Amino acid sequence: MKYLKKLIQKIDQRGYKAYQQLRGSYDFEDFTLYLDHIQGDPFAAPSKLRARVMQEKAKFSPGLFNTKPRRIALQDYITRAFSQAINNLSLSKTGSGKSGLLHIDCGRQHILERTSCTVNQKLVEVCFYAGLPARGRRIMGRECETLLMEKIPKIISLSLFYSALNKDDCINYIQVCEDQVYLRKQLPNHNLVAFIANGSILPRRSGVSDKPLSLEDAVPFKSPPQLEIELTAPHKGKVKGMGIPPGITLIIGGGFHGKTTLLEAVKQGVYNHVPQDGREYVIALKNAVKIRAEEGRSIQKVDISPFINNLPRGKNTQKFSTPNASGSTSQAANIMEALELGTDLLLIDEDTSATNFLIRDPIMQKIVPNNKEPITPFIDQVKNLFKQYKTSILMVMGGCSDYFEVADQVIMMDTYLPALVTNQAKQMIKNKKDKRNNEIPGCFGAITERIPLPESINPYRGNKKKIKSRGISQITFGLEDIDLSALEQIVDSSQVNAISEIIYYALKNKYIDGSLTLSQCLDKVISDISTGGLKVISPFASKHPGSFALPRKIEIGAAINRLRSLKVVQKKP
Ligand code: ADP
Ligand code: MG
Repeated sequence: MKYLKKLIQKIDQRGYKAYQQLRGSYDFEDFTLYLDHIQGDPFAAPSKLRARVMQEKAKFSPGLFNTKPRRIALQDYITRAFSQAINNLSLSKTGSGKSGLLHIDCGRQHILERTSCTVNQKLVEVCFYAGLPARGRRIMGRECETLLMEKIPKIISLSLFYSALNKDDCINYIQVCEDQVYLRKQLPNHNLVAFIANGSILPRRSGVSDKPLSLEDAVPFKSPPQLEIELTAPHKGKVKGMGIPPGITLIIGGGFHGKTTLLEAVKQGVYNHVPQDGREYVIALKNAVKIRAEEGRSIQKVDISPFINNLPRGKNTQKFSTPNASGSTSQAANIMEALELGTDLLLIDEDTSATNFLIRDPIMQKIVPNNKEPITPFIDQVKNLFKQYKTSILMVMGGCSDYFEVADQVIMMDTYLPALVTNQAKQMIKNKKDKRNNEIPGCFGAITERIPLPESINPYRGNKKKIKSRGISQITFGLEDIDLSALEQIVDSSQVNAISEIIYYALKNKYIDGSLTLSQCLDKVISDISTGGLKVISPFASKHPGSFALPRKIEIGAAINRLRSLKVVQKKP
């Protein structure tokens, strides 16, 4: 610590390059400060720092982190405390560029495994960023000293020691997270694919905010009596709510009555939410996938023949490739790729689907002869899909009653509250005159796995590795841009950051080797992450790894599937 102080005084007023001398580790009284990477100039990405406190001093008892869900929740909580402490300091800019800035990668409404904090029996460590102060390119020694010797130690003292935290709040945070993990694991035992607790607040504040709508404005969720089930969570105890059983479930109702809001909440139920989010007890199977149409995406040798056949000019749909998919072919491919990666629940909203993929009405069936219509609409395959692969479907369908015939449950949203109307719906369809011709094939057909070819995935631009993620919807990978905007279950830009490095990791470790299927490659990466921690995917795993949050296998695969240079071979059945 004293040495660091001397160093800073020595380089005061010198050119920015002299900051490189600070690289190293420094023992403070209660913690060690690591300056792992020093930025090249005040406008560059801020410097990477770590702070480590030994457990003898941090004093987090093992009960707070001795299971994986607990550890992830505690790490997340500490990260937020650190971030809060930064905000409370209300730092003002002290020079040019990013001078004086402090930042830690921190979640919002979700609790995700991330690299920003590590807790184990030995230590607590956070990875963060600081902009080392300068005026122009001249080092501001005094400001640097305040930042490193006063502000940062203050933030550390407020967040990395158990005694500094609000204990009840911290324990509650861990318990709420643990409950969600437990309930998600329990779903199959109760024969459910999703659960929405009574009292949940599903609507969000706005189209651009993931925070809950205020309690005055939101109608809390209440299960219809016929679907109400009581589950028991380890900490919260008994929780009542709506259970959605396996099979085909429709959500119907008038426009603006809350159909999409319900589906969206279930879609996010694959993740754990923070206390007070309103969706803490909205739980879905962890491999649930939201499916949508995605015009213009590229598709590589996906077998979409369960849905599409007899394309014009005899284009093969068992190995369907295109650089520019249509609404219906993209939706078909999105389903087949999700099945390939092991989904057991598909979430579909009429708002984001291709109409001709979902349905074809009786008159249309008459006017366009079968051999001129390549699409077997989803309605004619949905039962086969469940029968053959046990994949459930939860679907918003307010515009067409034809689905009543194939539905196992029909839930009607009325002024934001659900009612079970299966019997009425089935009755009505019986009396319907103009019935559609069912075009149901004998079975759903095969789900063909694909093997990605390593030579088609190139992270280099010239001879320089070029991998960059931007926000939650774009990755630059070598010469390519991957568009992730249709992947609605990516919730954090650090997940995108992780996805981009994971593709490189899978390549570098020869998991993508031309013989393993996409699913097998990803399983290998995921297994490495569970043994070595998420930081294994970083090129700087032993120091400050950068900002990563754990994505799901489904989204990693989806990103690879959207790489336009991708080439695959289908696995022989
Ligand atoms: P639909 O899909 O049925 O047309 P949406 O789910 O898009 O309707 O909801 C319409 C509007 O109602 C949205 O602005 C949404 O935020 C709001 N909303 C949804 N559920 C609730 C609720 N439980 N309480 C209050 N407002 C809600
Ligand atoms: Mg809607």
